[in-house]
This record gives sequence, C-alpha cells and structure tokens, in this order.
Amino acid sequence: MKHSGGYRPEEVVIRTERVSKSFGGDEALHDVSFEVRRGEFYGILGPNGSGKSTLLRIVSGVETPDTGKVEVEGRAVASYNRRALAQRVAVLQQDALPPVGFTVREVVEMGRYPFQSWLGDDEPGTDALIGSIMGRLGLTGLADRPVERLSGGERQRVALAKVMAQQPKLLLLDEPTTFLDIGYQVQMMDYIRAWQKEDGLTVAAVLHDLNLAAQYCSRLLLISRGHVVGEGTPGEIVTSQLIADVYGTEPIVLPHPDNGAPQILLRAGQSDS
Ligand code: ADP
Ligand code: MG
Repeated sequence: MKHSGGYRPEEVVIRTERVSKSFGGDEALHDVSFEVRRGEFYGILGPNGSGKSTLLRIVSGVETPDTGKVEVEGRAVASYNRRALAQRVAVLQQDALPPVGFTVREVVEMGRYPFQSWLGDDEPGTDALIGSIMGRLGLTGLADRPVERLSGGERQRVALAKVMAQQPKLLLLDEPTTFLDIGYQVQMMDYIRAWQKEDGLTVAAVLHDLNLAAQYCSRLLLISRGHVVGEGTPGEIVTSQLIADVYGTEPIVLPHPDNGAPQILLRAGQSDS
C-alpha cells in the first residue's frame, strides 16, 4: 500500500449514520447517512430549505444531531476539542464576510488563531505558510489592501485563504460560489480542486449549481425535505427524472462536450407548480 504523508485513499473522513435533527417540532434532517472518503470532492445538493446547511453544521460540530452518529476520521465529532477539530476541519460559509478594518494578510493570519499558544505567539514557519497560501490564491499583491476594498470574488478568495491557513484535512463549503459571477465561480472551484488533487484535501461542498457540481464532484448526495433521495456519481444523480422529482422542474440533461459530465438545460414553462 502506498502511503504519502499519512494519506490513505480508502480512509473514511466523514461518516454520518441516521442523523436526524428537528427545530421546534419541524424535522430538518431525517435519517441521513453518508460517507466521504479521503481525497474526495463530494457534493451535497438539494432545494432551498432541504437541510444542507444543517447537515454541514452537524458535520463540523457546530450543531448536534437529535439522533444518529457523526464521525470525522473515525471519531465522534463531539469527542474532539476545539483545537483538535480546527486542525482537521475548516468551514467556508456562503458569505464568509471577513471582519472590516483588517488587511488581507491580517485576515488570512486569523486562520492560524486556533494554533497559537496561550501567549498569542505563532508557531515557527507561520509566515512562510501564510505567504505560500496567499501566493497560491493570487493574493500576494493585495496583502496590504483593507478587505472592505476588495471585489466579491477577491473577498471570497481571502475567506478561502483564511480557512486554508488552518491546513485542514477536511474542507466543508456551504455554497462557496453563490454570490460570484461565472468567472469567479469557476476560479473558486478550480482553486479548491487544485488543493483536493495536489494535497489530498477532502472536500464536502454544498453546491447550488448542479452543472458545476456534476463537473467537479466524484459523488453527490441529493437531499429533499431532510431526506436522502439519492447518492452516487453525477451520472446517477443528475438525471432529468430525479431532478424533476426533487426540484419540481424537468430539465434536459446532456453530456458536457469537454468531460461527459451530465449538464442540465432548464426548460421555460416546465414548472410543476
Ligand atoms: P438549506 O441549507 O438546504 O437551505 P437549512 O439546513 O438551512 O436548509 O434549513 C433546513 C430547515 O431547518 C429549514 O426549514 C430551516 O428553516 C430550518 N432551520 C435551520 N436552522 C435552524 C435553526 N437554527 N433554528 C430553526 N430552524 C432552523
Ligand atoms: Mg443553506
């Protein structure tokens, strides 16, 4: 078996077993089970309000399920202390607005907070790490720019740099491209995929755009009203029937000419309601 830096391809990084969660009597998640393996780019899809963000918050330990099991790297999420969890899991929210009044570099450095000693000292090598992450995300020239003077796409890149400064093994993303124009959407997805492919980062992303999801993800989880309605490859999940059942509009599905990924074309006048 090949081992490089402790990376074992078959290792299960996220495992949930029959996770359920209600808010005030309304069930947001019902018996949700899924597994994400080391180095995968895993996509979570579903209509608005289907429980996707709740599921990510449960995996990251911010929310606890009412019933069911959640494990990260083979251990119950609740059994990790904050620092140990931050060394493994990073979360990028949909509109992760960095705090105002800080420069790009300062915000990226905040990603190291969980790793500082109680005196606030950085570990050796932190400057080099921050520099390399900023270089990788094309932020070097913006290092001293206040974050409030960045475009939306640049800000989201700073937010990604900040979470990557944690050097996580697992990156959880909640609709990372929703507010970006198409150029920045593809750029953001490409940056994330580069980390996934080159460093063995495991990615689990809630994605709004089915076409991007089908091109970047190896497997997809489709949830509707808190229930899993499908899990599998993009070819198995992005079908006109399943999409129609869940989203209430039946698209045309065609293979992408570049890579064969199933791509949807919406049809005007084809709404169920
Ligand atoms: P999605 O991310 O798929 O849009 P969410 O996970 O945000 O869905 O929400 C699923 C359901 O749970 C929604 O009905 C939402 O209103 C409800 N919900 C989520 N978080 C809370 C909360 N903290 N308090 C009350 N209801 C919540
Ligand atoms: Mg959400």
